Parts: sequence; structure tokens; C-alpha cells
Amino acid sequence: MAGKRDYYEILGISKSASDKEIKNAFRSLARKHHPDKNPDDPDSERLFKEVQEAYAVLSNPDERRKFDTFGHERPGGSPFGPGGFQSVNINFDDLFGGGGFESIFSSLFGGASGGRQRRQRGSDLLVHHQVPFQAAMDGIEDSIEIDVLKSCDDCSGLGSKSPDEIRECPACDGRGRIQRIERVGPFTQQVVSDCASCRGSGRIIPNPCTRCQGEGRASRTKKIQFHVPPGIDSGTRLRMSGHGEAAKGNRGEPGHLYIEIQVEEHEWFERDRSDLLMALPISYVDLVLGTSVEISHIDGQNLKINIPAGSKPGDTISLRGRGLPSQRSRIGRGSVMVLLKLDIPDKIPRSLKKQLEEIRDELSINSDMLDEKIRSEARQRRQS
Ligand SMILES: [Zn+2]
Ligand SMILES: [Zn+2]
Repeated sequence: MAGKRDYYEILGISKSASDKEIKNAFRSLARKHHPDKNPDDPDSERLFKEVQEAYAVLSNPDERRKFDTFGHERPGGSPFGPGGFQSVNINFDDLFGGGGFESIFSSLFGGASGGRQRRQRGSDLLVHHQVPFQAAMDGIEDSIEIDVLKSCDDCSGLGSKSPDEIRECPACDGRGRIQRIERVGPFTQQVVSDCASCRGSGRIIPNPCTRCQGEGRASRTKKIQFHVPPGIDSGTRLRMSGHGEAAKGNRGEPGHLYIEIQVEEHEWFERDRSDLLMALPISYVDLVLGTSVEISHIDGQNLKINIPAGSKPGDTISLRGRGLPSQRSRIGRGSVMVLLKLDIPDKIPRSLKKQLEEIRDELSINSDMLDEKIRSEARQRRQS
């Protein structure tokens, strides 16, 4: 990513900062930017993530050394795997006490396989959703219904008929995972897998809840309402925090729901970010003499297109400020770009044909001029 900031700069510390200084800087910045603290500030989530990423790297001696050597251009790509750094779910309270967040960061590296499961956040969900083209102009309040695994009401997500009966799994000491050493040829490697006795939950439930069969989660249909901002483009994902799947065994935050927006096509506009492009068929006479055309427009006011005399097919008329709202800057709108096309009628009445025959000679390019016209065409084409 271009312009990615230096991790030390993000945390506001020097390159020689001690582990303790790194942790203190992280803790105070994470508290400052925590999304729970800044529900109305769209930037806070990004800043929070940035601070997390900086801390994840600098708090890991190995990764810190690599960063000191290579900066962001380290060989092998992002240490967080192909998807880059994903935000970590830290409770605001964890930032105060003994530092419950540290174990989260120690297990982040090496791609998606290792660390993510240990965080035990519920799974993220992705749904696709189509909105009418008008939503790109005005925005829209919309809703969807999804079936999602939510914490079971009968057992409060614990999976047990009675909470007192839950026991720690003896096979894995409640960790949910088993480590073993495996030999692969001349190498040995440590393999971590889910405990088979408790299926990774770390707990044994003698009398499972009947509603969820001990899963702690049950599928429920939920209606989710959301706001699609003006200027939305296809492929944009709206993040609905906490609307994903509940965590297994009620031991973590629910995941996120991502709604990927698909904007329906307009009948005649193509879109280039906030600009709208259209083609307008115009008769030969109107191009030569000039005219004015009025068509309805998605902003509620008719679009008045003035075609100056002597226009050519292929000319573009630009109507500033009549395009879509710009999503990025939140100020101003794009343009409507009108491409003029020569309209050749499929059929013309006999009387008109006769009239055209009469003026044909006057409009024809005489043979003396033809060479020069061809040359001039070529010049213009090469200039543009
Ligand atoms: Zn177990
Ligand atoms: Zn249940």
C-alpha cells in the first residue's frame, strides 16, 4: 500500500523504544481510538486498526527486527498473510487491566491458520445485496433478512441445560487444542489440532441444551437495517459490527456482517466513479444548426443539454455538478458527460427523401476538397 505509515511514527515512539514503552504507547492510543469510544467518528476504526497493526509487529521481537531491516517492503509479503492485517477484537476494558490483549497479538503471525481461531470471535459473514441505481444518488435506508447463528436463548449460549454441570475437558485441560510433535522426514514439527474429546471447545457438557444440542448457538432469522450512503459504488462492503455469527460456546465477541453492495445498472448511464456517461443521438441538422435537449434526470431536475451549432458526432458535452455525489470527499458531485452520436433514421418518408435528394449536391464534399478533408481528419485524430 502506498504511503503506509512507519510503525514507530504511528505509536509516536523512537526506534529504540523498550517493550514497555511500546506497550504503553499502544495502550493509550488504542484507548483513544477504540471504536466503542468513538461511535460517531468514521476515522477511529481505521486509526484503531493502524495502531493495532503497529503494535502487533513491534511487540514481536522477530517481526520488529524484520521491520527495522526492511520497513514495509519485507520479502515474502505481509507477515499477516495475503489478506494483510485484520483488525483484532479487543474489549475496551482489556486495555486497562493486566493486558489481556497481549496473547491475542502474540498469535497473529503466519497467515490465517494459526492465530485467528484462538481469538474465538464468531465468524464473519458476507452477504451480497443489490440496490437500485437511484441509491447511488440519494443513498437509501435498506434492510435484509439473514439466517445467522446467534447465541442460544435457552442456555444463554453455554450449551448446557444447567451451567453448573459444565466441566473442563480432561483431555486438553480446557484448552480445546492438543499439541503434538510430528516427524516429517528428517524434520520434526509441532502440530496443533482441535481436541477430539471436546471438539475444540475445552468443555464437557453432560446434559446439553435441547434447543441447540449443546452448540450454544442456534440459527435465527434476523432482520438487519442499514444505511447505504450516497455515492455508493458496486463492490463496497458495509461492515455491521457484531452482526455476524455468535462465538462458539459464548466465549468471544460475535463476528461482523459484511454487506457487499451491488448497484443496479441505469438504463442509459455508465458510471465512472462520480461521473455519469451517456450517449445522445442527435440528427445531422441539429448538429449543424445547434439545438437544446431536455431529459429527465436522477437528481429530480431536468437535464438541459445545449448542443452548439457545428457540433460533431463524438464531441462530449460536460455538465458539471450533475453527476453522483462523491463518496470520498463528501463534497461536490461529479459531471454528466454527454457523448454526441449522429442519429441516422432507419426509415424516412418518401417526401423527405425527395427533399434530401434536392440538397444532396449542396452538402456533398466536392472532389477537390476531399483530399484536404481526409488529411484534416487524420491530423485531428492524431492530436486527440
Ligand atoms: Zn478437550
Ligand atoms: Zn442452547
